[in-house]
Amino acid sequence: MYELERIKQLKKERKAIILAHNYQRAEVQDVADFVGDSFGLSQKAVTSGAEVIVFCGVDFMAESAAVLNPEKTVLLPELAAQCPMAAMITPLSLRLEREKHPEAAVVCYVNTPASVKAESDICCTSANAIKVVNSLPQNEIIFVPDRNLALYVAAQTDKKIIAWDGYCPTHHLILPGDVLIEKEEHPDAEVLVHPECRPDVTALADKVLSTEGILRYVKQSGSMEFIIGTELGLLHRLNKENPGKKFFAATKYTVCPNMKMNTLASIIRALEKNEHVMSVPEDIRIKAKRALDRMLEAGRGD
Ligand code: SF4
Repeated sequence: MYELERIKQLKKERKAIILAHNYQRAEVQDVADFVGDSFGLSQKAVTSGAEVIVFCGVDFMAESAAVLNPEKTVLLPELAAQCPMAAMITPLSLRLEREKHPEAAVVCYVNTPASVKAESDICCTSANAIKVVNSLPQNEIIFVPDRNLALYVAAQTDKKIIAWDGYCPTHHLILPGDVLIEKEEHPDAEVLVHPECRPDVTALADKVLSTEGILRYVKQSGSMEFIIGTELGLLHRLNKENPGKKFFAATKYTVCPNMKMNTLASIIRALEKNEHVMSVPEDIRIKAKRALDRMLEAGRGD
Protein backbone atom coordinates (compact mmCIF):
# COMPACT_ATOMS: atom_id res chain seq x y z
CA MET A 1 0.00 0.00 0.00
CA TYR A 2 2.88 2.34 0.86
CA GLU A 3 4.28 1.76 -2.64
CA LEU A 4 1.03 2.71 -4.37
CA GLU A 5 0.67 5.90 -2.33
CA ARG A 6 4.29 6.86 -2.92
CA ILE A 7 3.98 6.32 -6.69
CA LYS A 8 0.84 8.47 -6.77
CA GLN A 9 2.63 11.22 -4.86
CA LEU A 10 5.75 11.10 -7.07
CA LYS A 11 3.70 11.11 -10.27
CA LYS A 12 2.04 14.33 -9.14
CA GLU A 13 5.28 15.95 -8.03
CA ARG A 14 7.09 15.11 -11.25
CA LYS A 15 4.16 15.51 -13.68
CA ALA A 16 4.81 11.93 -14.74
CA ILE A 17 2.90 9.10 -16.37
CA ILE A 18 3.65 5.40 -16.19
CA LEU A 19 3.48 3.33 -19.35
CA ALA A 20 3.59 -0.47 -19.08
CA HIS A 21 4.00 -3.06 -21.79
CA ASN A 22 1.53 -5.94 -22.01
CA TYR A 23 4.29 -8.31 -20.76
CA GLN A 24 5.00 -6.45 -17.51
CA ARG A 25 4.30 -7.88 -14.04
CA ALA A 26 0.62 -7.69 -13.03
CA GLU A 27 1.26 -5.14 -10.25
CA VAL A 28 3.19 -2.90 -12.67
CA GLN A 29 0.38 -3.08 -15.25
CA ASP A 30 -2.13 -2.22 -12.50
CA VAL A 31 -0.27 0.92 -11.44
CA ALA A 32 0.26 2.16 -15.02
CA ASP A 33 -1.68 4.96 -16.70
CA PHE A 34 -1.59 3.04 -19.98
CA VAL A 35 -0.87 -0.59 -20.81
CA GLY A 36 -0.22 -1.59 -24.40
CA ASP A 37 2.27 -2.64 -27.06
CA SER A 38 5.60 -0.90 -27.45
CA PHE A 39 4.80 1.45 -30.29
CA GLY A 40 1.31 2.26 -29.01
CA LEU A 41 2.85 3.29 -25.70
CA SER A 42 5.41 5.54 -27.40
CA GLN A 43 2.58 7.27 -29.21
CA LYS A 44 0.69 7.66 -25.92
CA ALA A 45 3.79 9.42 -24.64
CA VAL A 46 3.53 11.88 -27.55
CA THR A 47 -0.11 12.76 -26.87
CA SER A 48 0.15 12.97 -23.07
CA GLY A 49 0.94 16.30 -21.45
CA ALA A 50 3.33 14.65 -18.97
CA GLU A 51 6.88 15.95 -18.53
CA VAL A 52 8.28 12.60 -17.38
CA ILE A 53 7.53 9.20 -18.90
CA VAL A 54 8.33 6.12 -16.82
CA PHE A 55 8.57 3.39 -19.44
CA CYS A 56 8.07 -0.04 -17.92
CA GLY A 57 9.34 -2.25 -20.70
CA VAL A 58 12.77 -3.01 -22.16
CA ASP A 59 15.54 -0.79 -23.53
CA PHE A 60 14.47 -0.45 -27.17
CA MET A 61 10.94 0.57 -26.15
CA ALA A 62 12.10 3.38 -23.89
CA GLU A 63 14.50 4.42 -26.64
CA SER A 64 11.62 4.65 -29.16
CA ALA A 65 9.71 6.80 -26.68
CA ALA A 66 12.79 9.05 -26.41
CA VAL A 67 13.07 9.21 -30.22
CA LEU A 68 9.45 10.36 -30.53
CA ASN A 69 9.48 12.64 -27.45
CA PRO A 70 12.80 14.52 -27.42
CA GLU A 71 11.46 17.29 -25.18
CA LYS A 72 10.30 14.86 -22.45
CA THR A 73 12.30 12.92 -19.89
CA VAL A 74 11.96 9.18 -20.57
CA LEU A 75 12.98 6.89 -17.70
CA LEU A 76 13.69 3.15 -17.91
CA PRO A 77 13.39 1.96 -14.27
CA GLU A 78 15.75 -1.01 -14.68
CA LEU A 79 18.75 -0.43 -16.93
CA ALA A 80 19.39 -4.17 -17.19
CA ALA A 81 15.96 -4.71 -18.80
CA GLN A 82 17.37 -5.29 -22.28
CA CYS A 83 15.84 -7.29 -25.11
CA PRO A 84 18.10 -10.12 -26.31
CA MET A 85 16.50 -10.13 -29.77
CA ALA A 86 17.19 -6.40 -30.23
CA ALA A 87 20.82 -7.15 -29.34
CA MET A 88 21.10 -9.71 -32.17
CA ILE A 89 21.80 -6.99 -34.73
CA THR A 90 24.17 -4.01 -34.90
CA PRO A 91 24.27 -1.03 -37.29
CA LEU A 92 27.54 -2.30 -38.78
CA SER A 93 26.28 -5.83 -39.44
CA LEU A 94 23.18 -4.37 -41.11
CA ARG A 95 25.29 -2.06 -43.27
CA LEU A 96 27.35 -5.07 -44.43
CA GLU A 97 24.16 -7.00 -45.29
CA ARG A 98 22.87 -4.02 -47.27
CA GLU A 99 26.09 -3.98 -49.30
CA LYS A 100 25.37 -7.60 -50.32
CA HIS A 101 21.87 -6.65 -51.55
CA PRO A 102 22.14 -3.12 -52.99
CA GLU A 103 18.67 -3.27 -54.58
CA ALA A 104 16.90 -4.29 -51.36
CA ALA A 105 14.96 -2.13 -48.89
CA VAL A 106 15.54 -2.65 -45.16
CA VAL A 107 12.46 -3.21 -43.02
CA CYS A 108 13.19 -3.13 -39.35
CA TYR A 109 10.88 -4.54 -36.66
CA VAL A 110 10.46 -1.96 -33.87
CA ASN A 111 12.24 -4.43 -31.53
CA THR A 112 15.63 -2.97 -32.43
CA PRO A 113 18.00 -0.33 -31.04
CA ALA A 114 17.55 3.23 -32.37
CA SER A 115 20.95 2.93 -34.07
CA VAL A 116 19.59 0.05 -36.20
CA LYS A 117 16.35 1.88 -36.95
CA ALA A 118 18.54 4.76 -38.17
CA GLU A 119 20.13 2.41 -40.75
CA SER A 120 16.75 1.15 -41.97
CA ASP A 121 14.37 2.44 -44.64
CA ILE A 122 11.22 1.85 -42.63
CA CYS A 123 10.09 0.28 -39.35
CA CYS A 124 7.22 -2.13 -38.76
CA THR A 125 5.36 -3.68 -35.84
CA SER A 126 4.18 -7.28 -35.62
CA ALA A 127 0.72 -5.94 -36.54
CA ASN A 128 1.60 -4.02 -39.69
CA ALA A 129 4.66 -5.94 -41.02
CA ILE A 130 2.84 -7.34 -44.09
CA LYS A 131 1.29 -3.97 -44.94
CA VAL A 132 4.66 -2.20 -44.59
CA VAL A 133 6.49 -4.75 -46.77
CA ASN A 134 3.80 -4.54 -49.48
CA SER A 135 3.88 -0.73 -49.40
CA LEU A 136 7.48 -0.64 -50.66
CA PRO A 137 8.46 -0.32 -54.35
CA GLN A 138 11.42 -2.72 -53.95
CA ASN A 139 10.91 -6.43 -54.62
CA GLU A 140 13.72 -7.52 -52.34
CA ILE A 141 13.43 -6.85 -48.60
CA ILE A 142 16.03 -7.34 -45.87
CA PHE A 143 13.85 -7.99 -42.83
CA VAL A 144 15.49 -7.55 -39.40
CA PRO A 145 15.95 -8.84 -36.73
CA ASP A 146 13.26 -11.51 -36.13
CA ARG A 147 13.50 -14.47 -38.50
CA ASN A 148 10.15 -15.87 -37.36
CA LEU A 149 8.27 -12.66 -38.13
CA ALA A 150 10.22 -12.46 -41.41
CA LEU A 151 9.16 -16.00 -42.38
CA TYR A 152 5.56 -15.26 -41.41
CA VAL A 153 5.60 -12.19 -43.69
CA ALA A 154 7.38 -14.10 -46.48
CA ALA A 155 4.53 -16.62 -46.58
CA GLN A 156 2.06 -13.80 -47.26
CA THR A 157 3.78 -11.60 -49.79
CA ASP A 158 5.17 -12.03 -53.30
CA LYS A 159 8.30 -10.10 -52.37
CA LYS A 160 11.63 -11.82 -51.73
CA ILE A 161 12.34 -11.64 -47.99
CA ILE A 162 15.92 -11.92 -46.76
CA ALA A 163 15.45 -12.86 -43.11
CA TRP A 164 17.94 -11.80 -40.43
CA ASP A 165 18.78 -14.71 -38.12
CA GLY A 166 17.52 -13.19 -34.84
CA TYR A 167 14.73 -14.50 -32.65
CA CYS A 168 12.95 -13.91 -29.37
CA PRO A 169 14.23 -16.49 -26.86
CA THR A 170 10.94 -16.33 -24.94
CA HIS A 171 8.60 -17.02 -27.88
CA HIS A 172 11.07 -19.63 -29.11
CA LEU A 173 10.25 -21.72 -26.04
CA ILE A 174 6.77 -22.51 -27.38
CA LEU A 175 6.94 -25.84 -29.20
CA PRO A 176 4.34 -27.44 -31.50
CA GLY A 177 3.95 -30.27 -28.96
CA ASP A 178 2.90 -27.73 -26.28
CA VAL A 179 0.13 -26.40 -28.50
CA LEU A 180 -1.03 -29.92 -29.44
CA ILE A 181 -1.26 -30.96 -25.77
CA GLU A 182 -3.29 -27.86 -24.90
CA LYS A 183 -5.55 -28.41 -27.92
CA GLU A 184 -6.23 -31.96 -26.76
CA GLU A 185 -7.09 -30.75 -23.26
CA HIS A 186 -9.23 -27.82 -24.49
CA PRO A 187 -10.75 -28.93 -27.81
CA ASP A 188 -13.14 -25.94 -28.00
CA ALA A 189 -10.43 -23.34 -27.48
CA GLU A 190 -9.19 -21.07 -30.26
CA VAL A 191 -5.40 -20.98 -30.63
CA LEU A 192 -4.00 -17.42 -30.82
CA VAL A 193 -0.25 -16.98 -31.17
CA HIS A 194 2.20 -14.14 -31.72
CA PRO A 195 4.18 -14.05 -35.00
CA GLU A 196 7.46 -14.17 -33.03
CA CYS A 197 6.67 -17.88 -32.50
CA ARG A 198 8.38 -20.55 -34.62
CA PRO A 199 6.74 -21.30 -38.01
CA ASP A 200 5.74 -24.82 -36.87
CA VAL A 201 3.82 -23.17 -34.01
CA THR A 202 2.14 -20.44 -36.09
CA ALA A 203 1.08 -23.21 -38.52
CA LEU A 204 -1.05 -24.72 -35.71
CA ALA A 205 -2.77 -21.46 -34.77
CA ASP A 206 -6.28 -20.31 -35.66
CA LYS A 207 -5.00 -16.72 -35.68
CA VAL A 208 -1.52 -15.17 -35.68
CA LEU A 209 -1.79 -11.77 -34.03
CA SER A 210 0.13 -9.02 -32.24
CA THR A 211 -0.54 -8.55 -28.50
CA GLU A 212 -3.06 -5.78 -29.17
CA GLY A 213 -4.52 -7.90 -31.97
CA ILE A 214 -5.04 -10.82 -29.54
CA LEU A 215 -6.74 -8.50 -27.04
CA ARG A 216 -9.09 -7.10 -29.68
CA TYR A 217 -9.83 -10.50 -31.24
CA VAL A 218 -10.78 -12.12 -27.91
CA LYS A 219 -13.27 -9.34 -27.12
CA GLN A 220 -15.26 -9.84 -30.31
CA SER A 221 -14.96 -13.65 -30.55
CA GLY A 222 -17.92 -15.85 -29.62
CA SER A 223 -15.51 -18.48 -28.20
CA MET A 224 -15.19 -18.85 -24.44
CA GLU A 225 -11.77 -20.56 -24.34
CA PHE A 226 -8.42 -19.59 -25.84
CA ILE A 227 -4.94 -21.07 -25.93
CA ILE A 228 -2.48 -18.17 -25.91
CA GLY A 229 1.01 -18.41 -27.42
CA THR A 230 2.93 -15.38 -26.23
CA GLU A 231 4.61 -13.98 -23.10
CA LEU A 232 2.55 -14.83 -20.01
CA GLY A 233 2.09 -11.18 -18.95
CA LEU A 234 -0.63 -10.79 -21.57
CA LEU A 235 -2.87 -13.20 -19.63
CA HIS A 236 -3.27 -10.60 -16.88
CA ARG A 237 -5.02 -8.16 -19.23
CA LEU A 238 -6.91 -10.92 -21.03
CA ASN A 239 -8.37 -12.19 -17.74
CA LYS A 240 -9.05 -8.69 -16.43
CA GLU A 241 -10.83 -7.47 -19.56
CA ASN A 242 -12.76 -10.65 -20.37
CA PRO A 243 -14.46 -12.02 -17.26
CA GLY A 244 -16.11 -15.35 -18.01
CA LYS A 245 -13.68 -16.31 -20.78
CA LYS A 246 -10.87 -18.78 -20.08
CA PHE A 247 -7.27 -18.49 -21.15
CA PHE A 248 -4.67 -21.26 -21.22
CA ALA A 249 -0.98 -20.57 -21.82
CA ALA A 250 0.50 -22.67 -24.64
CA THR A 251 3.31 -23.34 -22.15
CA LYS A 252 4.05 -22.02 -18.68
CA TYR A 253 7.66 -21.24 -19.63
CA THR A 254 7.09 -18.10 -21.70
CA VAL A 255 8.26 -15.63 -19.09
CA CYS A 256 10.59 -12.94 -20.45
CA PRO A 257 13.03 -12.29 -17.59
CA ASN A 258 13.91 -8.87 -18.97
CA MET A 259 10.30 -7.71 -19.05
CA LYS A 260 9.84 -8.82 -15.46
CA MET A 261 12.71 -6.73 -14.06
CA ASN A 262 10.62 -3.60 -13.49
CA THR A 263 8.91 -3.60 -10.10
CA LEU A 264 6.96 -1.08 -8.00
CA ALA A 265 10.17 -0.42 -6.04
CA SER A 266 12.09 0.35 -9.23
CA ILE A 267 9.35 2.74 -10.42
CA ILE A 268 9.67 4.63 -7.11
CA ARG A 269 13.45 4.73 -7.42
CA ALA A 270 13.22 5.90 -11.04
CA LEU A 271 11.00 8.84 -10.08
CA GLU A 272 12.93 9.75 -6.92
CA LYS A 273 16.39 9.63 -8.49
CA ASN A 274 15.49 10.42 -12.11
CA GLU A 275 16.88 7.06 -13.26
CA HIS A 276 17.62 5.93 -15.94
CA VAL A 277 17.26 8.74 -18.46
CA MET A 278 17.09 7.42 -22.03
CA SER A 279 18.84 9.62 -24.55
CA VAL A 280 19.58 9.08 -28.21
CA PRO A 281 22.24 11.13 -30.07
CA GLU A 282 20.44 13.71 -32.23
CA ASP A 283 21.78 12.46 -35.61
CA ILE A 284 20.61 8.91 -34.83
CA ARG A 285 17.33 10.15 -33.36
CA ILE A 286 16.42 12.05 -36.53
CA LYS A 287 17.17 9.08 -38.81
CA ALA A 288 15.37 6.59 -36.51
CA LYS A 289 12.35 8.89 -36.34
CA ARG A 290 12.25 9.05 -40.14
CA ALA A 291 11.99 5.22 -40.30
CA LEU A 292 9.21 5.28 -37.67
CA ASP A 293 7.35 8.12 -39.44
CA ARG A 294 7.46 6.23 -42.75
CA MET A 295 5.83 3.27 -41.00
CA LEU A 296 3.00 5.50 -39.81
CA GLU A 297 2.50 6.77 -43.36
CA ALA A 298 2.25 3.13 -44.56
CA GLY A 299 -0.42 2.38 -41.92
CA ARG A 300 -0.43 0.88 -38.48
CA GLY A 301 -2.25 -2.23 -39.68
CA ASP A 302 -4.11 -3.26 -36.56
S1 SF4 B 1 9.56 -11.06 -25.06
FE1 SF4 B 1 11.18 -11.42 -26.56
S2 SF4 B 1 11.16 -9.66 -27.94
FE2 SF4 B 1 10.01 -9.10 -26.06
S3 SF4 B 1 11.56 -8.14 -24.74
FE3 SF4 B 1 11.48 -10.31 -24.16
S4 SF4 B 1 13.11 -11.22 -25.44
FE4 SF4 B 1 12.67 -9.21 -26.33
